[in-house]
Amino acid sequence: MNLESLRVGLGWDRHLLVPGRRLVLGGVAIPHERGLLGHSDADVLLHAAADALLGAAGEDDLGTLFPDDDPAFLNADSRDLARAALRHVAARGLCLLSLDAVVVAERPKIAPYRAAIRASMAELLAIEPSRLNVKAKTGEGAGPQGREEVIEATVVALLVAR
Ligand code: MG
Repeated sequence: MNLESLRVGLGWDRHLLVPGRRLVLGGVAIPHERGLLGHSDADVLLHAAADALLGAAGEDDLGTLFPDDDPAFLNADSRDLARAALRHVAARGLCLLSLDAVVVAERPKIAPYRAAIRASMAELLAIEPSRLNVKAKTGEGAGPQGREEVIEATVVALLVAR
């Protein structure tokens, strides 16, 4: 492989945890008394993943492609946004090689859902589950994550030019 064909992308996102919303992470609905606030379904993990893909491809970011004041994306399923990001990347001749993610949430505990989230994201992004990892951290009780005000996600993606 020509190393010059490799591209790395970084994505980060944060959404507020509020009552009366579903909690969806990596396309998986997680039972919790609160959910993430957003124009779309506020899937913070898929938003960060999509931005990592777009960043690696040198594309505009997710918020530019899918503005959060555009009624077309009200309550959008973020899986559709992630698929669209993947299409942008493919149109640039790039293919996802691997992806690693960190979700920071005090509650709910993400560990019981890790396998389901990995499977969901791997299928969505069309790569082997072994090439995609999701790790869960807490905020150790400190900061907006630790106070359960927000959930954050950081994603790094490695792409290769076909
Ligand atoms: Mg977002």
